[in-house]
Amino acid sequence: MPAVTTESKYGILKNYINGGFVTSSSGRSLPVHSPLDGSRLAEMPCATTAELDAAVTAARAAFPRWSRTPVKERVQVFFRYKYLLEQHLDELADLVSEENGKTRGEAVAEIEKCIELTEFATALPQLIGGEVLEVSKGVECRVEHVALGVVASVVPFNFPAMVPNWTIPNAIALGNCMIIKPSEKVPLSVARLALLLKEAGLPDGVFNIINGDSAIVEAICDHPGIDAVSFVGSTRVAKLVYQRATHHLKRCLALGGAKNHLLVLPDAQPEMTAQNVAASMSGCAGQRCMAASAMVAVGPVDPIIDRICAEARRIVPGQNLGAVIDKTAKDRIERYITEAERQGAKILVDGRGYTVPGKEGGTYVGPTVIDYVKPDMAVAKEEIFGPVISILRVDTLDEAIAIENASPYGNAASVFTQNGAFARYVIDRASAGMVGVNVGVPVPREPFSFGGWNESKFGVGDITGKSSIEFWTRLKKSTTKWNPEAGINWMS
Ligand code: NAD
Repeated sequence: MPAVTTESKYGILKNYINGGFVTSSSGRSLPVHSPLDGSRLAEMPCATTAELDAAVTAARAAFPRWSRTPVKERVQVFFRYKYLLEQHLDELADLVSEENGKTRGEAVAEIEKCIELTEFATALPQLIGGEVLEVSKGVECRVEHVALGVVASVVPFNFPAMVPNWTIPNAIALGNCMIIKPSEKVPLSVARLALLLKEAGLPDGVFNIINGDSAIVEAICDHPGIDAVSFVGSTRVAKLVYQRATHHLKRCLALGGAKNHLLVLPDAQPEMTAQNVAASMSGCAGQRCMAASAMVAVGPVDPIIDRICAEARRIVPGQNLGAVIDKTAKDRIERYITEAERQGAKILVDGRGYTVPGKEGGTYVGPTVIDYVKPDMAVAKEEIFGPVISILRVDTLDEAIAIENASPYGNAASVFTQNGAFARYVIDRASAGMVGVNVGVPVPREPFSFGGWNESKFGVGDITGKSSIEFWTRLKKSTTKWNPEAGINWMS
């Protein structure tokens, strides 16, 4: 067990239960470090199952009142929360950057996305009005969206504030009470969000935080007091969580990892394409499930590849490129590059062995462009989750589509071309839930929903936007008769 120490910037973290921070009685804790410089930020005790029980009890107690509060009233909390996110944007961005390692600009963009997600939740009364129809003389059928109960949200490290806000505003505005389990690598931002939710007027017990690692996620999946589990993280864990939660007959939506392909055609606009490819592979240090990870070069696109390399060389760790989450990640990413080189791929831009002067404890990897990658190499098939792009060369568009289709993942794919027919050909054939044309990171914005296909998502529906309403609610269908003359047959 690591020694528990208060010699860190934020000290020993607490769970957040029933509207207050509660000291954990756990004997097990994990250190939290800043990837920017390796400094120790906090000590995070892993919650006990008794602490999870307490959070579930608080959420269950809050549920009857919260779920019966009219939705137009519930969303008032999120109007105020949105305002508070705006007021605290700088402070939240600093915290996100500090615990995750992304650049300040990326952290600001992350908080702006939280604001947009919250804005969508405030529109939910307009979207869940239900339906009513006179189906026979004096007989009405009515359909309403009803909250599920107590729901859990398990989130990854790469967006400490945004991914929690994929679930918090929608699930709660729709009448559910929530227990969130932040990533043990970045637990600080969610704790700050709890205070903003409280300040916005969210009743105690509606939102709770339980810290921990895999053991507490397993307890969440098994807990009889939790009705649904949403998960965002790697495919390996998404499968485990989906299987475990549904085994206990819970509703589950589990988003997994990705290997996103960019198909670059010879007619692509060179400058715009190069800028998009470089930004997509390196944004958030490549730690995005929407990052470009493989580029399929169709035919003679060498001038574009040259420009991509020039763009990549302008991206400098510690300046306009953040850190990767920890040393384990840095070592893994560098191993992928070394293995590709050993197998005959050509490293055009090499990001290995980087240190940022003055931040020697930080975990930085420079942008890396690998050419002449073969489809059977690990860098072609596996999620690297670092600022690395693997270039595979093919002669035809159908070969490029075959490479994209062969991936077990299916989060995103993009095509770069000036030909509308080629673009449509790719949209129709890409085996991915989110497709871009001349867009490096094709994230759908609200009210459209976020979610991949294949091994990038398990379960029905998407996690944001209009589609998420189906996940966070169930339908109540009522049939009422106001026609005393009618016989016992409701259809009369
Ligand atoms: P991860 O799967 O390691 O962890 C995610 C969460 O699961 C964390 O809260 C962690 O504590 C928990 N966890 C870890 N191992 C577990 C286990 N064995 N059993 C139960 N719970 C466990 O993911 P990560 O490293 O935090 O995040 C990076 C991954 O998330 C990447 O694969 C990335 O593509 C993916 N991701 C996907 C999306 C998407 O929308 N599809 C979005 C963001 C991140």
